[in-house]
Amino acid sequence: MTEFNVIAAGSGNELPKRIFRARHFIDGTWRSSAAGKTVERCSPAHGGVVSRIALGGKAEVDAAIAAARRAFDKDGWPHLPGRERAAILLRVAQFIERDRDRIARMETLESGKPISQAEAEIEGAADLWRYAASLARTLHGDSHNSLGSDMLGLVLKEPVGVVSIITPWNFPFLIVSQKLPFALAAGCTAVVKPSELTPSTTVMLGELLAEAGIPPGVVNIVLGLGHPVGTAMTADARVNMVTFTGSTAVGKSIAATASATLKKVSLELGGKNPQVIFPDADLESAVDAIVFGVYFNAGECCNSGSRLIVHEGIAEEVLSRVVALSRKVPFGDPLDPETRVGAIISSAHHDKIDGYVRQAVGQGARLELGGQTFCVPGLDGQFYQPTVVSGLSADMAIARDEVFGPVLSVLNFRSFDEAIALVNDAEYGLSAGVWSDNVHTCLDFARKARAGTVWTNTWMDGFAELPFGGVRESGLGRELGRYGLEEFLEVKTVTMRVGHTRKPWVNVAPRT
Ligand code: NDP
Repeated sequence: MTEFNVIAAGSGNELPKRIFRARHFIDGTWRSSAAGKTVERCSPAHGGVVSRIALGGKAEVDAAIAAARRAFDKDGWPHLPGRERAAILLRVAQFIERDRDRIARMETLESGKPISQAEAEIEGAADLWRYAASLARTLHGDSHNSLGSDMLGLVLKEPVGVVSIITPWNFPFLIVSQKLPFALAAGCTAVVKPSELTPSTTVMLGELLAEAGIPPGVVNIVLGLGHPVGTAMTADARVNMVTFTGSTAVGKSIAATASATLKKVSLELGGKNPQVIFPDADLESAVDAIVFGVYFNAGECCNSGSRLIVHEGIAEEVLSRVVALSRKVPFGDPLDPETRVGAIISSAHHDKIDGYVRQAVGQGARLELGGQTFCVPGLDGQFYQPTVVSGLSADMAIARDEVFGPVLSVLNFRSFDEAIALVNDAEYGLSAGVWSDNVHTCLDFARKARAGTVWTNTWMDGFAELPFGGVRESGLGRELGRYGLEEFLEVKTVTMRVGHTRKPWVNVAPRT
């Protein structure tokens, strides 16, 4: 038996002959960098160059923020009827669906994720643009008609202003679509910075926005590194809010920088998300969800189910079934439609993943599966084997840190309380899952787990309607759903007197 299910490089999966040229989109025009700098991106799976990217700096950020400020303050984007903003968002959704294949292929070439997954993500992104359009039309505040017959209170919702949007490399198109259409629906204008590893699909989105008729300056895209581009987008006093997805370390630094000008900050950060398996669970479904949870997107996923916490009475059975199923997951060429798990984003990141595994083994952990670089026939890129590590104590780095790779850390428990204690013994609090056929166990778990999302008898289902975000070091604020729109809104109270009924504070009547 081959140890793993490896998908070798397929024929017909050649890299594009023409390299994609990614430029800045500022004030409605496409621009090269003022300093003339570019960087090339190679496919992490195939090794060849797929895009040439303009590398921006302070000059581009400055021009983009100035354009976004003008579009917000003078050109009237926040004052357009919601119906007109919604019409643009709906056109973008339609164009995303039309161009799904082109966008998905570029997403795969820059990120290394499987093409079938990239296609599903682009479709999911179109749904987010459509959902946000519905919010643009239903956005409203409150009225208070019970303050007395001479008073009326209004609570208005107003757009925050200019928003800096900084996104990572793991779900480039989906994550920008979790933020930008909601900001636009609220009436904000934006400066967007994608990761320099995966910027091209965000540039393609810019093309679709232009085609859909977005006014100049409403959306600006600046390409470049976290420093100087991301830092300038965070520090600039003309920006009212920063929304960021990425590492907890950078999230903290963004919050610190933004505090100097008291910007609103929304952070979607890391996770070390547990799936807890009770003895009465449907094990077939649970084992599949464990395998899906840890290998999806090669584990480069904030929602990765990277901590398995399993009852000791079923631990051996679950572990052997997880290992057996892991061997069947198709790993390899991301351009092959059969592939479920593709390449690791960069060789530096590959080495970071491997370092966690080596360290755990050195500390006495048992390697149940994998733990090495994967050689995929016909491909030059970096891949990592599906890896399962057991015999851990809860204080080991591999059991606490976000490894961000296809690595499952296994811990055991004896009682419900011990399971909850393990779940909550973490710096993070993004998501958690429970597997049991007992509704009381599931409800008790859902209430006691400290996490932004709890899944019961399922894993990683997401909907445009349901808010997403973390507690503790997993972040601040929420994306998606009505709450995702609220992030981009300020509340203004208008208190009105009806009639000339106000009693004077200073009594001007002469004393008798
Ligand atoms: P980062 O947090 O460094 O990068 C995310 C984005 O922030 C990128 O666009 C990056 O730019 C930008 N950025 C970096 N530094 C700053 C800064 N000081 N100010 C403003 N923007 C900045 O993630 P990494 O790529 O370095 O990944 C490291 C780890 O982060 C991973 O191993 C994983 O654990 C975690 N991570 C979590 C993600 C999540 O979804 N929660 C997503 C990605 C990573 P650029 O990279 O272009 O320089």
